[in-house]
Amino acid sequence: MWGRAATLSEARDQLVLANRILVRLGLLDSMGHVSVRNPEDPSTYLLSWSKAPRWVTAEDVLIFDLDGVDLTGSGKPPYMERALHGEVYRARTDVHAVVHSHMPSVLPFGLAARPIRAVIHSAAMFWDGVPLYDDYYDPEHEGVYVISQEQARRMAAVLGPHRAVLLRGHGCVVVGSTLPELVVSTYSLDQNCRVQWLTEAVAPAKPLSEVEARAMLRVRLGEIGIRRAWENWVQELREAGWLP
Ligand SMILES: [Zn+2]
Repeated sequence: MWGRAATLSEARDQLVLANRILVRLGLLDSMGHVSVRNPEDPSTYLLSWSKAPRWVTAEDVLIFDLDGVDLTGSGKPPYMERALHGEVYRARTDVHAVVHSHMPSVLPFGLAARPIRAVIHSAAMFWDGVPLYDDYYDPEHEGVYVISQEQARRMAAVLGPHRAVLLRGHGCVVVGSTLPELVVSTYSLDQNCRVQWLTEAVAPAKPLSEVEARAMLRVRLGEIGIRRAWENWVQELREAGWLP
């Protein structure tokens, strides 16, 4: 499959690019994190230590097992919410990339318990909905975040077979089969939520039908579309002097 790294080294380099592209697109800021499954050991994944995504380099990328243990023994502080990556990879063998974002465009839907619908062609991958996780309670972690493995397991169960899950009052988690596909999906979710809210300020938004969405998906998630977007974003990084 185009866009899926074949080696650990390739995955590490691609993860650095994904971090920086997501920041440039306004989908990550100082917080949030993106990971990729290790192509050389699918029971592990690659994720930076707790560093702002804009500045992640290959040297910052660590290897974690699905319980969130840093197998490199780096001693560097990990992201507090890394459990959500491991539990999604454990629950979904089809998932090879995960991002946790606090992008504001999704938040009103979780707060108002109004469902996200795929209303624009580019967001067809969300045609079957984006479920809402609102089951945070954990006696040791009382905030609205996903810290423990148990919270992350519950979140992964709510995600189910979908491509994203909303976290009420916090953000979202988006999943993909490759890092380029993941970035395209996250960008499209952001665009879709903006358009849906603008529309629904006036009247209910008409979603894509399942037939329309499935037809669009063949185009939207095909190699040509994903590759064009990814290569464009990498070139933008290059021209902006954002490559490591
Ligand atoms: Zn968070």
